[in-house]
Amino acid sequence: MSSDCLFCRIIRREIPAAIVAEDEHAVAFRDIGPQAPTHVLVVPRQHVSTLDAVEDPQLIGNLMLLAAQVARAEGIVDAGYRTVINTNSGAGQTVFHLHVHVLGGRRLSWPPG
Ligand code: 5GP
Ligand code: ZN
Repeated sequence: MSSDCLFCRIIRREIPAAIVAEDEHAVAFRDIGPQAPTHVLVVPRQHVSTLDAVEDPQLIGNLMLLAAQVARAEGIVDAGYRTVINTNSGAGQTVFHLHVHVLGGRRLSWPPG
């Protein structure tokens, strides 16, 4: 837990967010600036700054399984969806609490910018 971390504060319900799923390991909520009709962020309850800082394989496994569950609940599996983890600012990371973006509901081009 980190007292001044935005996503820790969302997990603690100190800052409002549209939470769509949660379990004992992770919380999923809608991105405030959606880049697709479905844009959900899945975050571990434990504060970890980046993917590079992850040591526990179960943490990342639990995170990805909740991301897949969110995609099923959003009805975007058959059409296709994307899971993205940006690591460090050069790749676009702006919030330094590990999160998986779940994006879908529109055609997604490749490669990403
Ligand atoms: P990053 O750029 O670090 O990969 O992703 C951070 C994401 O968090 C961005 O897509 C941004 O729109 C989202 N975000 C930033 N502040 C908030 C907030 O206060 N609430 C929610 N729900 N999303 C946020
Ligand atoms: Zn945090």
